[in-house]
Amino acid sequence: MNAVTQASNAHVSTVKLLIDGEFVESKTKEWRDIVNPATQEVLARVPFATVEEVDQAVKAAHAAFATWKTTPIGTRLRIMLKLQALIRENMPRIAQTLTAEQGKTLPDAEGDIFRGLEVVEHACSIGTLQQGGFAENVAGGVDTYTLQQPLGVCAGITPFNFPAMIPLWMFPMAIVCGNTFVLKPSEQDPLSTMQLVELAIEAGIPKGVLNVVHGGKEVVDAICTHELVKAISFVGSTAVGTHVYRLGSEHGKRVQSMMGAKNHAVVLPDANREQALNALVGAAFGAAGQRCMATSVAVFVGAAQQWVDELVEKAKTLKVNAGHEPKTDVGPVVSRTAKTRILGLIDSGVKQGATLALDGRDVKVPGYESGNFVGPTVFTDVKTDMDIYTNEIFGPVLVVLTAKTLDEAIAIVNANPFGNGVGLFTQSGAAARKFQSEIDIGQVGINIPIPVPVPYFSFTGSRGSKLGDLGPYGKQVVQFYTQTKTVTARWFDDATVSDGVNTTISLR
Ligand code: NAD
Repeated sequence: MNAVTQASNAHVSTVKLLIDGEFVESKTKEWRDIVNPATQEVLARVPFATVEEVDQAVKAAHAAFATWKTTPIGTRLRIMLKLQALIRENMPRIAQTLTAEQGKTLPDAEGDIFRGLEVVEHACSIGTLQQGGFAENVAGGVDTYTLQQPLGVCAGITPFNFPAMIPLWMFPMAIVCGNTFVLKPSEQDPLSTMQLVELAIEAGIPKGVLNVVHGGKEVVDAICTHELVKAISFVGSTAVGTHVYRLGSEHGKRVQSMMGAKNHAVVLPDANREQALNALVGAAFGAAGQRCMATSVAVFVGAAQQWVDELVEKAKTLKVNAGHEPKTDVGPVVSRTAKTRILGLIDSGVKQGATLALDGRDVKVPGYESGNFVGPTVFTDVKTDMDIYTNEIFGPVLVVLTAKTLDEAIAIVNANPFGNGVGLFTQSGAAARKFQSEIDIGQVGINIPIPVPVPYFSFTGSRGSKLGDLGPYGKQVVQFYTQTKTVTARWFDDATVSDGVNTTISLR
């Protein structure tokens, strides 16, 4: 059975739950339409699973853990090898689904899948990633070694903006470490996620090892409070991530929450102007600004302030259209609700006195009149207490600040509560070195606007953008998805030799 099917008496397909190796129809009465943001076409319906169904999924994962945890590393990694090959083969098909349900352009949808694929490739190295340490002779005849053991049932809760990459940050690494998994994809665009889940089953993930439940708050809360769930990875907004972190932690789970952002790009006057402005425009308006690492604030330093007009001219050249249309630069935002929220924040910027240097509110897209489009928008004369600066807009809106010096720019960035990403544009090694040392942001780009680390490193957002200390992929996530057990062992050469009773702590 497939993850999305249409009953003979229904006019739209329904998304299935995956419980104990079977794609099953939810028994819930609560459903939500999955809508193409460019056309408003209903693509399918997704259930909001019942608490009983969440319980079934978790129990199936718990039962499967008994055998999966002892499955040899080679068997686990060969499933990941198969999965990476299947994802590669199916990338164009999944990208089409992703564009239809999320809105981003087709090449960007392929990028979304590719960045997740890289995590699956990295999961194939688990043989060298999940290794303990060994110290011989820590005391007379005593050795100490560590084991990195899987935790049990882990869960993942994912956002709408990367429906391929972010689920792939989570379940492949958790499962390859020997855990079992319950995934809760975004209810806004779960179709491409489910195609990846189908491929994971085809690759050989045994029944019960990967399970999927759909829904919103009730399902998430049921996961956070379920006694058999040991760890939760969350990616999404700050409000929900904080809730998940608190609720999960209160219920004794290990939790990591990657959350909202306000990413600055600092432009020094010695930067290569053309490269810096191109990078800024791509990073601010690509994916319609709906990337957690999108550049949403540009800080022009000193004479670089004269480049703002040119930035606006470049932004004007971007083509706003449906994501599947060739040469589209900016697709629609994910939903009508998202568009209304973005327009409200733009209006607030005007009311609070910022200058709207480029207004994307009334963009018209012929053939897609009902799409959720917002054109590239640029604000200048922005103050740091305005709503357009203090809120994550999560749309194609760039706010421009100015600073007299690099020190002033660093102070602005460090005073912002978020800590996901930051960029510096310069040709000065000394300025770059000062910046990387003094900036209080977890991911720094030097002449790179969106510095998301490749999977051999880890995603290292910080401060208000993250709760929990370990990142969602890379070496850090192996720590997150495993328990370090320390064994201190002594073997006697001769069973007849004895030290006698000793009641003090050894001094050697
Ligand atoms: P969201 O927080 O609304 O949703 C994320 C998940 O939480 C979804 O699965 C959703 O169903 C669930 N959820 C929603 N409301 C809930 C509630 N009240 N209680 C419990 N669960 C709930 O986020 P989104 O709008 O899907 O995604 C956009 C946000 O994600 C942005 O803030 C963006 O910055 C952030 N994000 C962060 C990163 C990162 O790595 N830091 C990456 C991608 C996205």
